[in-house]
Amino acid sequence: MICIENAKVVLENGILWDGIILVEEDRIVSVGKRSEVEIPENAQHIDAGGAYVGPGFVDIHTHGGGGHAFGQEPAEAAEYFLRRGTTSILPTLYHSLDKQGFLDAIDRVKATMASAGARNTIRGFYMEGPYMNPDFGASSKYNKWLGQIRPEDYKDVVDRAGDLVKVWVVAPEREGIEAFVRYAKSVNPNVVFSVGHSRATPEQIRKLKKYGLNHLTHCMDATGRTSAWLGTRGAGPDEACFLDPNMYAELICDSGAVHVNAELQRLILRNKGIDKVVLISDCSGRKEGENPAPEGLRHMTDLSFDDQGNLGGSRLSMDMACRNIMTHTNCGIAQAFLMASRNPARAIGMDDEIGTIEAGKKADLVFVDDMFHVQKVMLAGQLQQF
Ligand SMILES: [Zn+2]
Repeated sequence: MICIENAKVVLENGILWDGIILVEEDRIVSVGKRSEVEIPENAQHIDAGGAYVGPGFVDIHTHGGGGHAFGQEPAEAAEYFLRRGTTSILPTLYHSLDKQGFLDAIDRVKATMASAGARNTIRGFYMEGPYMNPDFGASSKYNKWLGQIRPEDYKDVVDRAGDLVKVWVVAPEREGIEAFVRYAKSVNPNVVFSVGHSRATPEQIRKLKKYGLNHLTHCMDATGRTSAWLGTRGAGPDEACFLDPNMYAELICDSGAVHVNAELQRLILRNKGIDKVVLISDCSGRKEGENPAPEGLRHMTDLSFDDQGNLGGSRLSMDMACRNIMTHTNCGIAQAFLMASRNPARAIGMDDEIGTIEAGKKADLVFVDDMFHVQKVMLAGQLQQF
């Protein structure tokens, strides 16, 4: 039995001052105030030193980290994020991979999951593509999936990843997308569909609701709209998400509010509410210094650019995203944890196991100071050494 003490425990509905968390094997067995929890005599004590102890971060959308792409080096990428407090992660594969590229990446991630044992943080895949709209960030230069949507292209990819896919991102306006969605749903009935890199109308999006479309990929980023008349404003994926109280909105929250400006972040938060915003890193995996930022953005180290100088994901991790959202909005630590841990766990249907600190859940914990600097990480009951 492990007893974590001297902690500010971040619970779903508030912060427990001078809290105790008891952990046995890989599970949380008890949590409460010092005066309420009976601490076994032989427990091993971990002094949190007054840190905030919250549920480990759940990053459902990230392509890699620290120079390691998930498709190439999944173990190294997962390790990079574990150090930064992410205890559950979905490697994100992109439309820049061709069919064989997808299959090879899927195999490498699966092999890593199988060999990592208790140290595994990979919970499945987030498939950003393959069928996106090239006009919205899914650059045609890298996009291998621009032609007709044909079963002979997608079937093997869907089959190989199977029920490990938690999310498929689609552009609902792509012709023939419904057949793809129907097939992906037949392979994994629990999969969630997300609209992203798209300018679909709310009507096109609603048509896919019956298959489980319930998610918006990076809200207010790489989304567009088609207007009926010149000079009027159409409605697109962002508006569809705002109109649907059940839909989750992902948010990329970099330090300079470049992906989504701070006013829009506050608009998203006010409209969707604290329960429906999901922080993501959307980390590109690029190393520091790779493809330098254009003039004017050089001072920002958490952005990522492609070789044409276009903004292409971030270099964020979830601790940074939490810090940034506290800078750009009026949210506090407990709320940042909801958006970085609980909401993403819920969005992918894993909240029975992870996402909050509760007896019975996995002992995946992150110890942070009041500005989300990570001090310690516990994964499945084991304090990690780096
Ligand atoms: Zn994207």
